[in-house]
Amino acid sequence: MPSPPPLDRLAALLPPGRVLTDAESLAAFGRDWSEIHLPPPAAVVLPRAVAEVAAVVRFANEHRVPLVPSGGRTGMSGGAVASAGEVVVSLARLDRVLDFDPVDRTVRVEAGAVTRGVQEFAAARGLCFPIDFASSGSSQIGGNIATNAGGLKVIRHGTMRDRVAGLKVVTGRGDLLDLNRGLVKNATGYDLRHLFIGSEGTLGLIVEATLRLTAPPPPRGVLLLAVPALPHLLDLLCAFRAAVALSAFELFCDTSLRHVLAARRLERPLAAVSPFYALVEFDRPDGAAEDAALAVVERAVAAGWASDAVVAQDEADCRRLWLLRESIAESIAPEDPHKNDISVTVSRLPAFLAEVERVVRASYPDAPVLWYGHVGDGNLHLNVLRPEGLDPAEFARRCREVDERVFEVVAAHGGSVSAEHGVGLLKKDYLGYSRSAAEIAAMRGIKAVFDPNGILNPGKLFDTAEEEPT
Ligand SMILES: Cc1cc2nc3c(=O)[nH]c(=O)nc-3n(C[C@H](O)[C@H](O)[C@H](O)COP(=O)(O)OP(=O)(O)OC[C@H]3O[C@@H](n4cnc5c(N)ncnc54)[C@H](O)[C@@H]3O)c2cc1C
Repeated sequence: MPSPPPLDRLAALLPPGRVLTDAESLAAFGRDWSEIHLPPPAAVVLPRAVAEVAAVVRFANEHRVPLVPSGGRTGMSGGAVASAGEVVVSLARLDRVLDFDPVDRTVRVEAGAVTRGVQEFAAARGLCFPIDFASSGSSQIGGNIATNAGGLKVIRHGTMRDRVAGLKVVTGRGDLLDLNRGLVKNATGYDLRHLFIGSEGTLGLIVEATLRLTAPPPPRGVLLLAVPALPHLLDLLCAFRAAVALSAFELFCDTSLRHVLAARRLERPLAAVSPFYALVEFDRPDGAAEDAALAVVERAVAAGWASDAVVAQDEADCRRLWLLRESIAESIAPEDPHKNDISVTVSRLPAFLAEVERVVRASYPDAPVLWYGHVGDGNLHLNVLRPEGLDPAEFARRCREVDERVFEVVAAHGGSVSAEHGVGLLKKDYLGYSRSAAEIAAMRGIKAVFDPNGILNPGKLFDTAEEEPT
């Protein structure tokens, strides 16, 4: 049993009021969107300067106190929860915009800057920070980087990895690394920046990032298609990609739609009820792009790839159609769904989906199953709702069993068991379906370099050799 951390010494490192131990704060900072309920953290620390972060890490090494980096806690894999009563380090007070460079088109921000705030900062300067998702109002830049978050426009703008031009981190050793410093070209050996992107707080605390902005997007067109069968998704994707500049190609099933319509009290967007819907967003700089998109719609209906379609007439319509997709996670959250976030290469999607569908339908004959996701990136969210009357513990046990079968299909297709939500606590037992033993050993080696005492987010992503159950 580890001895409790000397919180009085921790408190002495920071100005008063920056180490919280009240029950409300511990409960709030002890959970994320995964809704895993674990013992609360020992304390929550709120540093306001990089030097304070470094002091906390030095303290943690000296007293062997494990730390959990915490952003907006919108993560869905339990990465930011304190699974064993660790000290949570919240970056929320390190939230300033430090610098803007209109020539490089970069913005330098502290890690706790909220995604939506960075988007607004860029927009006010005639530019765009294009990483966007339903949790942008709460998620922080540090959390986005630590999970290599994607979002709704990945097919156009990539993931966080493509946006990070520079990174400052305090490693688990307590070293401050200033990585890449905004350079576009830098052929000087290992690009350590990329090790920290997606590292889920296991190697270092991200304290600052230089982010690449883009030109503001041209006016957009949005349309929604009713898709009778999954294999047609690829036909549609290829046809639209050939005709217009796509910025999103999203999928959701009718069960997802029904939840959104009920939660938001909305009308059905299309007369036809279809098992699946594709939401397509494209650049509409002029009438020609819209004509090209409409020609694809006509061809798709004639070919039977789509049974119905609605085209947004103006920006308000675009937002209304997007709301149907963006509200799904929140609409189903009250039912505490069992979630999977899986991906394969886009070309494999139809075969992969058909196989996973077979497994899922056979395994959950009585449970509502919801599909939605970013088809343009090969990324699907598979959600299963607990059937009425089924004991929650029994439901969780069955879900774990079925997950193994789903992940066997993922592995057979060379896919990922976590496309964008991270591994955290929830997916670490399944890492081997996506990463070889040699890769996991290399990851452990990298962890040992940056965090030799294992103080950063222990037990997340993978167990280190010492943590592994014998
Ligand atoms: C409604 C909803 C929709 C979502 N949609 C998407 C989507 O479309 N695409 C997508 O990719 N994700 C999505 N997510 C998941 C989530 O929002 C993102 O992963 C987000 O980037 C997490 O940021 P956060 O600040 O909330 O991080 P947290 O949840 O606080 O933390 C996530 C991980 O990062 C680590 N971490 C946090 N801050 C730091 C730091 N400064 N230094 C080091 N490690 C740190 C934590 O320890 C943890 O392991 C969605 C979530 C919700 C609730």
